[in-house]
Amino acid sequence: MEERDVVIIGAGPAGLSASVFTQLDGWSTLVIEGNWVGGQGAIAYTVSNYPGFLPGDGSILMDNMEKQVTSTPPSGVGAELRRERVISLKAEDKVVTTEENEYRAQTIILATGSTMQKLGVLGEERFAGKGVSYYARRDVDQFSGKRVLVVGGGNTTAKSALLAKTVTSQVTLIHRRESLRAYSIMTKSLQKEGIEIWYNTELKEIRGGDWVQTAVVVNNKTGAEKEIGVDWIVICVGTEPDTRLAREAGLEMKGTVVKINSQMMTSKPGIFACGEITGCDRHLISSASQGACAGMYASEYLALEKVKRGEMFEGAKNGKYADEYMAMLR
Ligand SMILES: Cc1cc2nc3c(=O)[nH]c(=O)nc-3n(C[C@H](O)[C@H](O)[C@H](O)COP(=O)(O)OP(=O)(O)OC[C@H]3O[C@@H](n4cnc5c(N)ncnc54)[C@H](O)[C@@H]3O)c2cc1C
Repeated sequence: MEERDVVIIGAGPAGLSASVFTQLDGWSTLVIEGNWVGGQGAIAYTVSNYPGFLPGDGSILMDNMEKQVTSTPPSGVGAELRRERVISLKAEDKVVTTEENEYRAQTIILATGSTMQKLGVLGEERFAGKGVSYYARRDVDQFSGKRVLVVGGGNTTAKSALLAKTVTSQVTLIHRRESLRAYSIMTKSLQKEGIEIWYNTELKEIRGGDWVQTAVVVNNKTGAEKEIGVDWIVICVGTEPDTRLAREAGLEMKGTVVKINSQMMTSKPGIFACGEITGCDRHLISSASQGACAGMYASEYLALEKVKRGEMFEGAKNGKYADEYMAMLR
């Protein structure tokens, strides 16, 4: 079993930001990522609301964060990043198990963010990755010349349809309501690009063989059903906090998110959480900011644990935790 001071699960803006603070404080920090580095931030389109980052592609922002985390000082902080999927977390022992390895940490920071919401329709699970996509950004190269059905009504849905339209002429968007939630400028772009929009329409079933072949859609006003030929279905109906690990580890929840105290600590001592799994605002800056706080509090926790064990360390020598240290010796 490998040992680290800090193990951070998830390399989205929250997890990457946390690692900057723990590594800079001198704690050996490992960030573990199961999909792609950058999380949702890496599939965001134009990001215009991150201070210090001029409006640009989310993947550029997240590439920068990754470089800052993994580059050796002085270019970065020199934390470690591994591409492994975490399958379980033992909160009491602070053991993190991935598909490849097992790690014991002094403290753990959970930053598993959110996953794309599923529709729960017949065939969705069977065809996920076989023509059913939740990430137009990552799959768009494969849409070329194909029939693409986009499901949803928000800005991400509209952006996904517009992106698909850059590589294929056959894009249809369906939405269950009478109008889209997307900004009107987006709706206008969809119209300008000649993307067909079917309102009051829901996806009922996905059919096919080895790959998606047809979609059964239903008009929720008239009840009329039709089966249409498709090669790709892009589902963009929102996100939901990815709390599976937290729940299985027995962390206390607050509704659908992980409960934390004012120091970002969960109900289990030494286990911190940050970002969308705690229900913070769905913004890069909110997750990054929570990540920074979790990193700082985790670092402080580690320092005080050392002090409690009576161990001398640089922070105490330099006066950083000197008061607590002296109090322990008295
Ligand atoms: C299409 C889109 C556009 C957006 N545009 C903007 C925007 O313009 N501006 C803005 O401010 N915000 C935007 N957002 C929202 C923003 O990206 C999120 O709020 C932010 O990324 C959340 O950060 P996070 O670190 O909490 O979680 P996430 O970004 O979800 O990262 C969590 C990470 O944890 C990993 N993970 C989960 N489980 C495991 C496991 N078991 N093992 C290992 N790793 C695991 C995931 O793979 C993921 O990489 C957008 C989101 C999307 C989807």
